[in-house]
Amino acid sequence: MHRTKVKVAEDALDANTTIAAANRADFDRHGVSVVNFMSAPGAGKTTLLERVLGEVDARVGVLEGDVQGSADADRLSALHLPVVQLNTDSGFGGECHLDANMVRSALGDLPLEDLDLLVIENVGNLVCPAEFKVGEDARVMVSSVTEGEDKPFKYPLMFRACELVLINKIDLLEHLDFDLDRFLYHLDAVHPGVEHMLLSAKTGEGTEAFRDWLTGVAKTAPAPA
Ligand code: MG
Ligand code: ZN
Repeated sequence: MHRTKVKVAEDALDANTTIAAANRADFDRHGVSVVNFMSAPGAGKTTLLERVLGEVDARVGVLEGDVQGSADADRLSALHLPVVQLNTDSGFGGECHLDANMVRSALGDLPLEDLDLLVIENVGNLVCPAEFKVGEDARVMVSSVTEGEDKPFKYPLMFRACELVLINKIDLLEHLDFDLDRFLYHLDAVHPGVEHMLLSAKTGEGTEAFRDWLTGVAKTAPAPA
């Protein structure tokens, strides 16, 4: 019984890898770099994107993943960028993460030929988004200081399966007992040497570095075929 369950999970991940490669080929053909943006619910992903995307030196689009509703996509639409909402409760069983197949289902709604950078805002979740590649070039993990300094230790895969860790809401540090050294110690233990940035999506402090990082990723896109 247990072995069967493991086998099913492995097959599902194999299928995901195959579809992620197909997404990757489509992104390459259109010369689009892709960032998978992950965090727990409420870490500030959408606010951070509102803060920086309008100032990234590239043509940017967003694929907004949520279980239901279009609240975040509506907010980002104010930036006058192409934004497509992907709801996991419409045909995908209300999944708590995006996978390659869900992303693939939305590609036709995105003007890939007009983009240099696609940001995929994943469903807020600290466990499974890390297990599903969607064809991205890079992954960004956002962790806010209100979540506590033990999160890299308790949810190591999310902090390991990424190229950049953003520590958000630093404007609140003076009100919290958050121990930054302790957080960085845990982070280094699960992902030695991973790049990290301290910032506040609310005040804008430190967000220029993230904006420039996104611009850098956009510039790595291959020329359209
Ligand atoms: Mg959001
Ligand atoms: Zn999930």
